Amino acid sequence: MKPEMEGKFISMTDSLQNMIHARCFTQDELMLIIENIESVKLSYKETQNKYPDDENAVIWAFMNKLQESIEHFIKNNPNGQKITCAKGCAFCCHVNVDITKPEADLLARYTIEHAIPVNSDRLAKQSKVSEDGFIPLSYEDSACIFLDEHSQCMVYEYRPMACRKYMVITPPDECNIVTNRHGKVGRAVDINGEMIVSALYGILETNSMAKMFKQSIHENEKKNKILIKISGNKSKLPVEEQTKDNAGDKKQPAVL
Ligand code: SF4
Repeated sequence: MKPEMEGKFISMTDSLQNMIHARCFTQDELMLIIENIESVKLSYKETQNKYPDDENAVIWAFMNKLQESIEHFIKNNPNGQKITCAKGCAFCCHVNVDITKPEADLLARYTIEHAIPVNSDRLAKQSKVSEDGFIPLSYEDSACIFLDEHSQCMVYEYRPMACRKYMVITPPDECNIVTNRHGKVGRAVDINGEMIVSALYGILETNSMAKMFKQSIHENEKKNKILIKISGNKSKLPVEEQTKDNAGDKKQPAVL
């Protein structure tokens, strides 16, 4: 569902859409949410205009805003719900995750700089399928391209917004998509964080993580001729040289 305002459709995260569908908000609250989303969009565009050559810094600033919001939410969780997510529990890293193009660029930059061994087998498989095509993938093939053999995220510091805002409150076993494939998982939703993500999904190009990451890697390669180490089937993307310049530091894309 995309709430309508003055003839325009507003893009929102699935979480917000579900809450609207479940009538969790009054009409006034809904209008406030829409206004806030619009204001974050405006703020992102203004920041983009201010730093036109550094999209990495712009998205990073807004990812930090999201992170602050989530941390504040966890600390002051109004319902007292305990977040049960823990290191090494990665069932939610076996589903399709959509990310924005600047997030993919940030991940490409980070993985190149730190020679992160992105799984090339899974990258090849996942970048070929649509969101629906992701579901029939085996448990192994559906693992995120950044998940290591200990079920830990290799890009945790730079993980996408969709991963940051996913917070579970039910026992971790219930997240097991093998034994509890059609079971329900209880989630805590930080509405402020959802508004930030809704705004960015509304103005930035968005697609599945594997597709977006592959695109960013190839653009980087073309631009900077950088060395990229890829593990998995041991295949490597074309290798040239690393220059000083390039050594840097879960869905509803729609536009108003
Ligand atoms: S980026 Fe990290 S947290 Fe997100 S799905 Fe991949 S492994 Fe999981």
